[in-house]
Amino acid sequence: MPELPEVELTRRHLDEAMRGRRLVRVSTTHPRTARHNAGGATEVDERLEGRTVREVGRKGKFLAAPLDDGQTLIAHLGMSGRFTIGDPSEEVALHTHFRATLDDGVEVRFIDPRTFGFVAVVSPEEMVESGLSRVGPDAWEMAPTAPDLADALGKRTAPVKALLLDQVIVSGLGNIYADEALHLAGIHPLRPGGELTVSDLERLLAAIEIVLGQALENGGTSLDDLAYLLPDGRAGENLERLRVYGRTGLPCPTCGAAVERIVIRARSSHFCPVCQPAP
Ligand SMILES: [Zn+2]
Repeated sequence: MPELPEVELTRRHLDEAMRGRRLVRVSTTHPRTARHNAGGATEVDERLEGRTVREVGRKGKFLAAPLDDGQTLIAHLGMSGRFTIGDPSEEVALHTHFRATLDDGVEVRFIDPRTFGFVAVVSPEEMVESGLSRVGPDAWEMAPTAPDLADALGKRTAPVKALLLDQVIVSGLGNIYADEALHLAGIHPLRPGGELTVSDLERLLAAIEIVLGQALENGGTSLDDLAYLLPDGRAGENLERLRVYGRTGLPCPTCGAAVERIVIRARSSHFCPVCQPAP
């Protein structure tokens, strides 16, 4: 599933292609892709057509592009979504559910085999009601300080891994980078969030910055299913740099102990039993 680095890299490509461009023709072709607008695909297409994109921004794993009339185009890649930018004459890939032709002739497409992703258009009033307004500070652009994070965690007893995934305390991390950051910080994924010290949180925040920065430099993480590709069609190269995620039984890069896998709230967690002592 695309996480902050993959969404940010997608954003950079989309911003370059779409900033200042008018959406001449828009065609949404799967009802699930348009499910966040009551009027479905027709409404998405009608509200977007003719509008000019001011810029393409991001908060957590959401893409958010303000338009010239005050509306915002929101997109989420879900489990398997990706954007492409190219010529309208190019063959349309299977599972292409959204196409927008820009005023310079370039076509932006959204491909999403599992349809957990979406494209939506919201007014400022609708934005308040949208999931985007509940998303916490971005882990890369506006990461909290350790004392602020300690305040946000309060006396929460939930495992720190689950709290990192819930997008409210901090946003953008998914299963891969949460596991990677906890390993680098030497924090067991089951430790209750509210019990972490400011020193633990300082290590965790530094680790988050390192793993996200490394993933951005490497073009993001494309897993073996290649669900995530950059908008220019290239695969990210961060997979081989992962320390614990998906490496059950393989040696920890720090100490050599076998990486273990446990399930926390229905999500797999990978950790080193030596570097990340059990609570
Ligand atoms: Zn280790």
